[in-house]
Amino acid sequence: MNRERTGSQGPLRTGRRTSGHGRTGEAPELPLGQLLDGIAGQYGPRFLHSDPIVFARRYDSPADREAAALIAALFAYGNVKAMGAFLKVLLGELGPEPAARLAEGIPRGFTAPAYRFQTAADVRRFLEAAGVVLRRFGSLEKAFSAAPGSPWDRIEALAAMLQAEAAPLSRGLRQLLPLPSGGSACKRWWMFLRWVVRPDDGVDLGLWHCLSPSDLLIPIDTHLARIAFALGLTRRRTPDRRFAEEVTASLARFCPEDPTRYDFGLARLGILGACPRRQVEELCRACSLRPHCRLGRGTE
Ligand code: SF4
Repeated sequence: MNRERTGSQGPLRTGRRTSGHGRTGEAPELPLGQLLDGIAGQYGPRFLHSDPIVFARRYDSPADREAAALIAALFAYGNVKAMGAFLKVLLGELGPEPAARLAEGIPRGFTAPAYRFQTAADVRRFLEAAGVVLRRFGSLEKAFSAAPGSPWDRIEALAAMLQAEAAPLSRGLRQLLPLPSGGSACKRWWMFLRWVVRPDDGVDLGLWHCLSPSDLLIPIDTHLARIAFALGLTRRRTPDRRFAEEVTASLARFCPEDPTRYDFGLARLGILGACPRRQVEELCRACSLRPHCRLGRGTE
């Protein structure tokens, strides 16, 4: 239940104060939960093109979507255009059934492209490791579920398994397959989990049933970290594991059963330039979140 949702979820409006700034007669300020619902509603499947999940959605079968989602999520860093070009080539090389291709084993003549920190050899070793896991467990969900403990523990186990199969580990493979025990917020792992666990809403895939959406943590990237801090969803400045946990807890006040439902929309604000890294006064003035934003309020 959304304790802060009130009224309809109509189109976004700029929230205004009715007192304190002499603006009597203007529309009342909306609660943050309702504004976040509006953002989540505004940024739906129409905006898939701006997110690497679009690569998983190109496949029909759940197995292929799962395999493509793992690949797209783990390589989702760096320049968006370069990442998209890399994923297009890599998934093109894997053919129309990437899950089967991985499970069968990567053939000798397979040409793996390189990407930023990962050499072609790193990419190939990662694909071979994913193939071993698929052969051993039948699916990534089964591999993830085989480990006991919390979702963090299971991420650790899956990442460690992939690392072990991809060994010897290079710098690129360590960067590609981070372990939660290293202290990072593991944005790409949590993004993968959001994709496969949240129900199919035209963006997320709804493939896994071993976790509930309420188990998910918000994937923290630079956009999310900046906006979450500006909205007071955390007081922390370092986007680490505790940062992700605090932001998720704040979002759970609005939707405890599915706190990461806000992730795609909030991330679009940064990715599509509605809330750019360098603050733009005009954009803040037009932003529905301004009454709740410690950066935007400075533009009043
Ligand atoms: S008010 Fe400005 S800084 Fe705050 S979320 Fe909106 S665009 Fe971003």
